[in-house]
Amino acid sequence: AQLDTLDVIVLAALLLGTVAYFTKGSLWGIPKDPYAGSYAMANGAGKAGKTRDILEKMDESGKNCVVFYGSQTGTAEDYASRLAKEGSSRFGLKTMVADLEDYDYGNLDSFPDGKVAIFILATYGEGEPTDNAVDFYEFITSDGVAFSQGGEATDNPLSNLRFVAFGLGNNTYEHYNSMVRRVNTSLEKLGAKRIGEAGEGDDGAGTMEEDFLAWKEPMWAALAEDMNLEEREAVYEPVFSVTEKDDLTADSDEVYLGEPTRNHLTGTSKGPYGAHNPFIAPIVESRELFTVKDRNCLHMEIDLSGSNSYYQTGDHIAVWPTNPGSEVDRFLSVFGLTSKRDTVISVKALEPTAKVPFPTPTTYDAAVRYHTEICAPVSRQFVANLATFAPSEAAKAEMTKLGGDKDYFHDKVSTRYLNIAQLLEIVGGKEPWPAVPFSLLIEGVNKVQPRYYSISSSSLVQKNKVAITAVVESLRIPGAPHVLKGVTTNYLLALKQKQHKDPNPDPHGLTYAIAGPRNKYEGIHVPVHIRHSNFKLPSDPTKPIIMVGPGTGVAPFRGFIQERSAQAKAGEKVGKSILFTGCRKQSEDFLYQHEWKDYKEILGENFKLVTAFSREQPQKIYVQQRLKEDAKEVNELLEQKGCFYVCGDAANMAREVSIVLGQIIAEQRGLPEAKGEEIVRMMRSSNLYQEDVW
Ligand code: FAD
Repeated sequence: AQLDTLDVIVLAALLLGTVAYFTKGSLWGIPKDPYAGSYAMANGAGKAGKTRDILEKMDESGKNCVVFYGSQTGTAEDYASRLAKEGSSRFGLKTMVADLEDYDYGNLDSFPDGKVAIFILATYGEGEPTDNAVDFYEFITSDGVAFSQGGEATDNPLSNLRFVAFGLGNNTYEHYNSMVRRVNTSLEKLGAKRIGEAGEGDDGAGTMEEDFLAWKEPMWAALAEDMNLEEREAVYEPVFSVTEKDDLTADSDEVYLGEPTRNHLTGTSKGPYGAHNPFIAPIVESRELFTVKDRNCLHMEIDLSGSNSYYQTGDHIAVWPTNPGSEVDRFLSVFGLTSKRDTVISVKALEPTAKVPFPTPTTYDAAVRYHTEICAPVSRQFVANLATFAPSEAAKAEMTKLGGDKDYFHDKVSTRYLNIAQLLEIVGGKEPWPAVPFSLLIEGVNKVQPRYYSISSSSLVQKNKVAITAVVESLRIPGAPHVLKGVTTNYLLALKQKQHKDPNPDPHGLTYAIAGPRNKYEGIHVPVHIRHSNFKLPSDPTKPIIMVGPGTGVAPFRGFIQERSAQAKAGEKVGKSILFTGCRKQSEDFLYQHEWKDYKEILGENFKLVTAFSREQPQKIYVQQRLKEDAKEVNELLEQKGCFYVCGDAANMAREVSIVLGQIIAEQRGLPEAKGEEIVRMMRSSNLYQEDVW
């Protein structure tokens, strides 16, 4: 049969789509560097024709050490920068830091002898690489990994490659540090030579920073020996030049006051929106799901219309926060910058491989308020680095002691949840620290990271409107001088209060710049982007699902049930859905309790809600126990190829649920316990067991 024109067009479009999918757009010249066209360009990092050849890059910039990072929340990136700096200042290495997604890896087999590659790799979610490391990971771990000198296939194509590895993981997850472990195994299999141990940091035990510090000393010793490096006294060499611009003011059009990219600055913001380009979205609805002493939970609806961003039920939304004004003030005051807060600065990388983490020219105020993670925990290494710039001998001695003594640091800083400015206020007495170079602050304090939220609405029901369910972080630490306020959630709370014209819109005196840079967020807007996840309903709606989500872990399941209700209403057949959820007390913090009744009316027998209220009886009851009580039905649904989902607390709940499910399967099917565990593992690998935990 002859194809008519429409068929041809459709087929061509399909073919193009398929090619684009498999080549990930690489044939189309879609720039990998998402900053291209924005500020990195100004810094030379996003130059047209920028090379993806790491060997060429090292060669042309005279480097002999590259520190690659696979980072999701910025910690791995921070460790990479720190190692690069230390390698240069202590050992005279010519270092550069490299984002794994900025390069190709087919020519690693030509990595020159006498140079070294350091890999700092975070493991994300269920043992996955971070978003920026996916391509590298797939390349290096694939069975038929093909290098450019592939003609002569050798057993050890990477025998020239010297490498160092450190992983960031969380022992409460099933696949602890699997990224660094697998990459290490693959590199060794390909003949690469590892220097020192492959280190592992554990966020679950809260020892990440200490694990890193303990790993790096023997690593440096091994590397120094291997490469014949001589240690010298480290002197501070700034990575960035910071120039105050007398010819510009905060009102000048070209000055960034917190706008994330050039298009945002010029008012021509356009998609695609993503991790490097947020959409300034209106919050169309906000309310508190519960408010009890010191704890509250927000429900917000964020409108994506006009952004060309789409989401699917089960995806995440990232919220880009603004620091509280009270902490911005403290930070500027501690470093003697209060009177210069609106002074315009231009920041340039002093060497070609460093990236300025925010667009400039900008002001001190904007750099701190929008781009610097000033409220975060303090790194002990950074404290040691600051000692040189202390305002008095006493402060210098104290900083040196804190930097050098792990236990003392733990006692004085970690247990009191201090941020950097709070610590320096205490150590310096009344004295500010004006001698600290601003470059050191850019290097030593991470850049602000967007926070993720599991979307709590269904894209089938509200295509362009994303719901989030967030508990406002507020921690009163006994003996500590400050109440710890979560950055993003308190910002969202302030937005909610402003939206409701609360007479006291900022109850904790945090003084957020709600209207954003140049009032661009006026009318209750917030910068966001969507992150697609694998946490998905079965494509066949008749399949049963079992969901376990206590606390805010219930968020994506509200979306799931919303979706199944809509399907049922439209006359579709839907499978059984059981939701295990819980909180402290039904009367206090039970999320969406009235909605569940509506869904029950629509779904009838096909929806079962099982609750565990931990504090309503003398002994605590959690979802795990409820799961056991429903063992028979849970097992039956799994035997019908039901999907099992867990969302929420990774540290305890998710792990226990996984164990309990193994026991249930073993018991119900008359199998040994080990077999039950194996079945859960198999369910995970075939996506019948999915986790969305944090
Ligand atoms: P932050 O300022 O980031 O503080 C968070 C915590 O860090 C504090 O509680 C404290 O333990 C520690 N901390 C911060 N500062 C210090 C300091 N100076 N010293 C010591 N410790 C410190 N949350 C939800 O409520 N709902 C969801 O649906 C949801 N989904 C998520 C999905 C994913 C995939 C992920 C990764 C996370 C999710 N989260 C969710 C968590 C959320 O991303 C945020 O982590 C959370 O809201 C806190 O953000 P914050 O900026 O308010 O707090």
